[in-house]
Amino acid sequence: MGIFSSPNSLQKVLGAPGVEGKSVTKLTKGGLTEFIQSIIVKTEEMKEPFYILDLGVVMSLYENWTQNLPMIQPFYAVKCNPEPALLGALAAFGSNFDCASKGEIKAILALGVSPDRIIFANPCKAESHIKYAASVGVNLTTFDSKEELDKIRMWHPECKLLIRIKPPLECKDVRELSTKFGALNEEVLPLLRSAKGLGLNVVGVAFHIGSAAKDSRAYREAIAAAKAIFDTAILLGMPKMYVVDVGGGFTADSYFNEMAPVIKAALQDYFPNEPGLSVISEPGRYFAETSSTLVTNIIGKRVRGELREYWINDGTYGSFNGIPRDNIRPTITCTPIACMSNPSNPTCKELCTYKATVFGPTCDSLDTILKGHQLPELHVNDWLVFKEMGAYTAAGGSNFNGFDMASTSTYLAF
Ligand SMILES: *Cc1c(COP(=O)(O)O)cnc(C)c1O
Repeated sequence: MGIFSSPNSLQKVLGAPGVEGKSVTKLTKGGLTEFIQSIIVKTEEMKEPFYILDLGVVMSLYENWTQNLPMIQPFYAVKCNPEPALLGALAAFGSNFDCASKGEIKAILALGVSPDRIIFANPCKAESHIKYAASVGVNLTTFDSKEELDKIRMWHPECKLLIRIKPPLECKDVRELSTKFGALNEEVLPLLRSAKGLGLNVVGVAFHIGSAAKDSRAYREAIAAAKAIFDTAILLGMPKMYVVDVGGGFTADSYFNEMAPVIKAALQDYFPNEPGLSVISEPGRYFAETSSTLVTNIIGKRVRGELREYWINDGTYGSFNGIPRDNIRPTITCTPIACMSNPSNPTCKELCTYKATVFGPTCDSLDTILKGHQLPELHVNDWLVFKEMGAYTAAGGSNFNGFDMASTSTYLAF
C-alpha cells in the first residue's frame, strides 16, 4: 500500500480547494461506464458533452511520481488542463505550479497556494504580467533573451531566474516547443554575461525536451548541458547555481518508468555531491491526460452505403483541438454508450461494426475526429466516450461557429 492510499488521502482530496463542496462520486473498479450512464440519465434534457475527472487517478499518478522521482519536485503546468478540481487536488498532494500568465498565477493564488510554490515559466512575458508577478511575490521565472532580462531588470529585479535552453538533442514531439523557446548553445554565455552585468540573480537552468517526447537520452543530454552551464557561471564569477528544471514531456504510461531511472542516473552522474541542488520539473500531460474521460452526444448521422457518418457535439474547435495542431497524432479511440438505441446492451458488446467517420459539430470540413473507425450501428442521441482526454483538450476549446466548446462541465469521481 502506498503512502497516499489511505483514508487520510481521500480526506485530503475531498477537502482540497476546487473540490470541497462539489459532489465526488466514489467509483468501484470498472464503475466508470455506470457512472457515465447515471449522468446521461440525470441530464437527459441537455445532452451536452461532459468530462469525468477521476481524482483517484491523479492521486495514483502523484504517488507514482514521488516513488520514482522523489528528488524532483513537480510544478504542474497549468496550461495543460486548468480544471480547478485538478489544480486543487494537486495542490493538496503537494505539487507546485508552472504558470505562464497573469491569469494562471491568479487562478493558483485563488486556491490559497502560496506564491513561492509558483514558477512563472514563460521565457517571454508581457511587462504587465511581470509587474503583476512582482506585486504578488512570484519570484522565480525563466528567460532566453537579452530583451527579457531588460524587462525583468526594470520591473522585477529581485526575481530569481532560470536560463531556458534549447535541449541539445532534438526529439520528435507532439508540439515542438524547441522551435520557439530556449537559448541556443552559443547564446548562453552572452546571456549569462548580460544577466551578471544587470545584477540579476540567475539561479539555474531550465529546458523542455518536448511534449510526450519518447527519447530518454534527451533528458540525459539536457542535464549534461545544464551542468556545463553551472560550470560556465562559476567561471564568469557568478554565484553558484542550484536549480535544474527538467521541464515536462512525461506521459503516464510505461515510458515514465523508462524515463525515471535515466533521469535519476543523469542527475547522479552530472550532479554528484551537490548538497544544495534543487531539481524541479513541469509535468502537464503526465497528471492530466489519463485522469479525464470525455463523453459526447451523437447529434447527427448519415449513411452512405457501408459507411456510417456521425456528428458529435465536440470537435477540433473544442476538446479535439490537438488533431490539426499536433505533429504526432495521439491515437484516438472511442466506445459507444447506446442508451437511446440499445438500452439492453448500451456498450454494444459483440455487435457487428461498420467503418465510421466521426465529425465535430462546426461547419468546417476539417472538423473531423475519426476516419475509418469501426463502430456498431449507432443513432442520434447515443453517446461516444473518449478516454485519456485530459491533456490540451478543453483548455484549448473555443466558441467558433457559436458552439461553446470552451466551457464543458466536469463531474468528479474518485
Ligand atoms: C507546456 C509546457 C509544459 C508542460 O509540458 P507537458 O509536455 O505537458 O508535460 C512544461 N513547461 C513549459 C514551459 C511548457 O510550456
